Amino acid sequence: MMDDISKTDPEVYALLKKELERQQHGLEMIPSENNVSKAVLQAMGSVFTNKYSEGYAKKRYYGGNQFVDEVELLAIERAKKVFNVAHANVQPYSGSPANFAVYMAVCQPNDTIMGLHLPDGGHLTHGFKASCTGQLFNSIPYHVRKDGYIDLEEVERLAMEHKPKLMWVGYTAYVREFPFEKMARIADKVGAYLAADIAHISGLVASGVHKSPSPYAHIVTTTTHKTFRGPRGGIIMVTQKGLDKDPELANKIDKAVFPGLQGGPHDHTTAAIAVALKEMMQPEFKTYCEQIVENSRALAKSLMGSGMEVVTGGSDNHMVLVSLTKFGKGKGIFAQEALDEANITMNKNTIPGDPSSPFYPSGVRMGTPSLTTRGMKEKEMELVGKWIADVIKEIKDFELPEDKKEIGNYLKAFKEEIKENKKILEIRNSVIKLCRKFPLYPGFDVLR
Ligand SMILES: *Cc1c(COP(=O)(O)O)cnc(C)c1O
Repeated sequence: MMDDISKTDPEVYALLKKELERQQHGLEMIPSENNVSKAVLQAMGSVFTNKYSEGYAKKRYYGGNQFVDEVELLAIERAKKVFNVAHANVQPYSGSPANFAVYMAVCQPNDTIMGLHLPDGGHLTHGFKASCTGQLFNSIPYHVRKDGYIDLEEVERLAMEHKPKLMWVGYTAYVREFPFEKMARIADKVGAYLAADIAHISGLVASGVHKSPSPYAHIVTTTTHKTFRGPRGGIIMVTQKGLDKDPELANKIDKAVFPGLQGGPHDHTTAAIAVALKEMMQPEFKTYCEQIVENSRALAKSLMGSGMEVVTGGSDNHMVLVSLTKFGKGKGIFAQEALDEANITMNKNTIPGDPSSPFYPSGVRMGTPSLTTRGMKEKEMELVGKWIADVIKEIKDFELPEDKKEIGNYLKAFKEEIKENKKILEIRNSVIKLCRKFPLYPGFDVLR
């Protein structure tokens, strides 16, 4: 029972080691990923995972919660301070359950809601039809303009016409400042609740590197991973503006989370959220977030200098979207697979007005949070941008077959071919060399 995992479960241990190797020797550029601190890992791998604590602090269903209460209250106090909000619930299991709780708190089934269309950069839980939020509610999506910016004129027109109960501002693939103030003006005009989903940018908001939604939105949701740099989890916050609109809003949110949608909170996650929030309050975190944006801009510049087309021509946050349409449609999958072969991880993504489909989109999305955590700066971004462009040039002539049934075999053959590509192998070697200079967990064995 008390034995080390390396002895009790060599199979899982071997996988842990391989995953650490992979993370160590690759450039993690999926913008929603990051590397947490040793302290966050320690809180997550702690005895708090043994506890059941349905309910809220001082109002639990089970005994033995005196220390869970303290750690949850600590996380709540820190969240309120960091995000400048009146109320925080730190129990949501992740970002999607946090958003579901918002619906549960302020909507009835079939109520009208508005969010950015998923292929335009919105999130599934903002009313996309594949998500239950698009099936249980009357979802009216808004869009980005051809130039990649939110189409606020369309938002206003649709809001006036459909009078939504709830509007979402907050995105998954959007490289410019989120328009909290302008969305609030529209939401206030039609009497809608405005929920800001800052999952991607919460670290930037906490450190003041991105404008805060706190004065504008009624509700703010976030994941606690991504730029937050904590464990996988979620937080729902109610602003003073939210309480002014509806004094019962904080209660409604708490009731929606428990008992509305969840049972016992993940106390080990709560402890790790508290730790991550303390890290966010340190001056180093602001420097970190400023560097994320500097790196993102340097990366966009390097990509454009190498002939790549960057959506909106740059970035205000941690993310860069590259359109591959100048090479043809649906090229995202080839770029993603070839970059993976070079140990550069990112994801295929739709771009504004994508001529292909969300499953085979025409762009790639990349971000700088993880590389910045490792200590990389503008100089490295310039190199990485060139490597990415070089890999993309190797795949530009591959075409998706028109017949959907042929796509599987074609991609299989493509992957075999790309494995032998000399240029890509060369870039992989350079990537590994760079990664060795920026160790993930210097001087600390995370498997112990
Ligand atoms: C990541 C994300 C979520 C969902 O988070 P999960 O933890 O994956 O459920 C919700 N909204 C936005 C905008 C996101 O980027």
